[in-house]
Amino acid sequence: AEEKTETPATLAQEAPIITVTQVKANVSMPEAAPRAFATGADGVGLLRTEHMMLAAGVHPVKFLEEDREDELVNILVENILKVVDVFYPKPVWYRTLDSPTDEFKTLDGGENEPDEPNPMLGWRGIRRELDQDGILRAEFKAIKKLHDQGYTNIGVMIPLAQHPDELRKAKKICEEVGLTPHKDIEFGMMVEIPAAAILIQDFIDVGLDFVSLGTNDLTQYTLAVDRNNEFVAKNYSEEHPAVMALVERTIRTCVENGVTCSICGQAGSVPHIVEKLVGMGITSVSANSDAILEVRKTVARAEQKLILDAARKQQ
Ligand code: PEP
Ligand code: MG
Repeated sequence: AEEKTETPATLAQEAPIITVTQVKANVSMPEAAPRAFATGADGVGLLRTEHMMLAAGVHPVKFLEEDREDELVNILVENILKVVDVFYPKPVWYRTLDSPTDEFKTLDGGENEPDEPNPMLGWRGIRRELDQDGILRAEFKAIKKLHDQGYTNIGVMIPLAQHPDELRKAKKICEEVGLTPHKDIEFGMMVEIPAAAILIQDFIDVGLDFVSLGTNDLTQYTLAVDRNNEFVAKNYSEEHPAVMALVERTIRTCVENGVTCSICGQAGSVPHIVEKLVGMGITSVSANSDAILEVRKTVARAEQKLILDAARKQQ
């Protein structure tokens, strides 16, 4: 869905609501950053890369094959800058490219994308970026350029991780371009595959500044329901007990280890789910700009309830 990019005078018209749990914005189009900022968001919990490449019109692999890495890096710098500049010094978590093969076919160079029988179970996210690591390298180079310009508010988030080795390899590439994870940038991962939720402790042991729950994918993979398949749409539910069990396991393990835990899937915009997440100890909730005010109110109510319940237990 297209994001609105116009910036009204203020979206957070009421007096600011203070919450301990942070409320952040998901940004898919960099041009929407001022609008997201105007909501009073505490940062960007998900900056997607896919739209940057769609707007450029050229497949990232084509840039690399034609020795035009500089151009690719500059496109990324220009786009990421639009967001980190508006939000500075609030944190922006940049998610490395996550494009299923069927979504980039229309780009110049996209005709070389393979025809996969099931792109959602296929060549996307970090697994693809480690196979074609030139793209990941270009992304880290772009972030290094911004970091060198003083944008110290950038975090990098790895999508679709299913094994801790993928984090080790991604960190190595980050270091190779001269960017030190945990020092220059926050380094985090998305929990979108049940394997990652089940083995979350092993991922944390590799070294993570933060984790973000991608419940859109976590739901489809836990329930074996293709999120793009209308025939099984009725079987798709973020509230399925198995999905919620993996979410809870992830949050609790992060809390035990002192790792920041966020959510950037659509479930973070559903009030009664948000209430549960706050109770589990989630650190931040990232939602689309249109939903942020409601999410903030829900978080505030959930926090007040927790405080009052705890106080009453003491009496
Ligand atoms: C998710 O999977 O929940 C998520 C936020 O990522 P995307 O919707 O871009 O796959
Ligand atoms: Mg996802």
